[in-house]
Amino acid sequence: MDLFRWTIHEASAALRAGRCTPAELMASVNGRIQAVEDKVHAYVSVAGDAAVQQASSLNARNEASPLWGVPIALKDNLATQGMRTTCSSRILEHFRPPYDATVVSRLKGAGAVFSGKTNLDEFAMGSSTETSCMGTTRNPWDPTRIPGGSSGGSAAAVAADACLAALGSDTGGSIRQPASHCGIVGLKPTYGRVSRFGLVAFASSLDQIGPLTKDVIDAAILLKAIAGHDPRDSTSVNVPVPDYPSLLNGEVRDMRIGVPQEYLQVGIQREVREAVRNALDLLAGAGASIREVSLPHTDYAVSAYYILATAEASSNLARYDGVKYGYRAEPVEDLLEMYRRSRAEGFGPEVKRRIMLGTYALSSGYYDAYYRKAQQVRTLIMRDFEAAFDVCDVLLAPTCPTTAFRIGEKVNDPLQMYLSDIYTISVNMAGIPGISIPCGFDDGGLPIGLQVLGKHFDEATVLNAAYAYEQRTDWHRKRPPL
Ligand code: GLN
Repeated sequence: MDLFRWTIHEASAALRAGRCTPAELMASVNGRIQAVEDKVHAYVSVAGDAAVQQASSLNARNEASPLWGVPIALKDNLATQGMRTTCSSRILEHFRPPYDATVVSRLKGAGAVFSGKTNLDEFAMGSSTETSCMGTTRNPWDPTRIPGGSSGGSAAAVAADACLAALGSDTGGSIRQPASHCGIVGLKPTYGRVSRFGLVAFASSLDQIGPLTKDVIDAAILLKAIAGHDPRDSTSVNVPVPDYPSLLNGEVRDMRIGVPQEYLQVGIQREVREAVRNALDLLAGAGASIREVSLPHTDYAVSAYYILATAEASSNLARYDGVKYGYRAEPVEDLLEMYRRSRAEGFGPEVKRRIMLGTYALSSGYYDAYYRKAQQVRTLIMRDFEAAFDVCDVLLAPTCPTTAFRIGEKVNDPLQMYLSDIYTISVNMAGIPGISIPCGFDDGGLPIGLQVLGKHFDEATVLNAAYAYEQRTDWHRKRPPL
């Protein structure tokens, strides 16, 4: 048996029964990383022997934890003490944070082992992992295709069995979209559910951290481990964290499932629409009641998101100026030249585009026309969801309009790239939770993702609806032929 193929819950059972040790499991994952990294390039940094050592020195005290001894990969925008955290940007290429992100210390406390840091679009800005300064990650199902982004490295690593599970971040779809393209499970929790302390900020009113896993049980396990209030992130909310894994029963009888009509219209690939329709039929057969709902402001979501996210990014990224940390251009004549050249040489083209767009939208004379308008649209989008959740428990939709596109296909056409986020970004603007689970393949053998969306802080229902589907299908067991 190849240990690296295990899910978290399978590994945990084996470790507890003494059928393998954490070091053996980690060594198996390391072997797998070595075997597939050339083809996939999911990692920016691999922990290697250090991870085996971490596994060997685990204290048996944590043995009750379902994550004890389990190899997890971390998106490289999560701060890891002493371990390089680059955001796949030249400007942070050699940055070693002096502290751990809260999610990292929680996983450490639960006995998880870190296999390494995964590739992303530079500062998580992108949908394809192509804006990374570390090279492009490849889709394990077809190396000529993008794995999605920005958590493309995390998704590809999970799909390629190069870790048991991973963490990513989702500002406009960056967990769900790559999960969809790589045929795995990806969950964006409610805004405020998980502490962002130690997540390098992109757009602070939208960013959330969440799990990318091989199945829904694992997503429930990881969410439980990382969720909860943190005094170091004032936006994390102090509400109880349910015991997600024990709430999974696969029962959808009388569950009210809404289908946003705007999400199955123009621009959607035929196989994607069919797969979602089949999923609806399956859940209806299991006793759920399906109804059509409308999210009438969907058309404005992409434009509003790309104003708000870039505005926030332009402010968050002002700190990279060569003074305290990160890349510094040298030699320089004066301070201004240092700022200018450090940023010009340190940031890639997509990040620069967004800083310029965001600065423009916030500048006096344009603020009312762009930023304020976009905020108003955001309120309307939130109300759309509120109205839908008055009559539904969850919503079901495709995660992406198409399966994974080709590497190079959209990278020089930002508008096309941005438009591919149409089904994921509204969820961030409303702050609600959403999961993507595998629901089929297109005619070319590429995975299709199904999105389940829920009410604020109701991840339990979202996970359970996803679990109900997963239990009745076996898409999540398919692995790419690497
Ligand atoms: N693709 C979106 C963007 O480029 C979302 C990115 C994300 O969620 N980090 O902004």
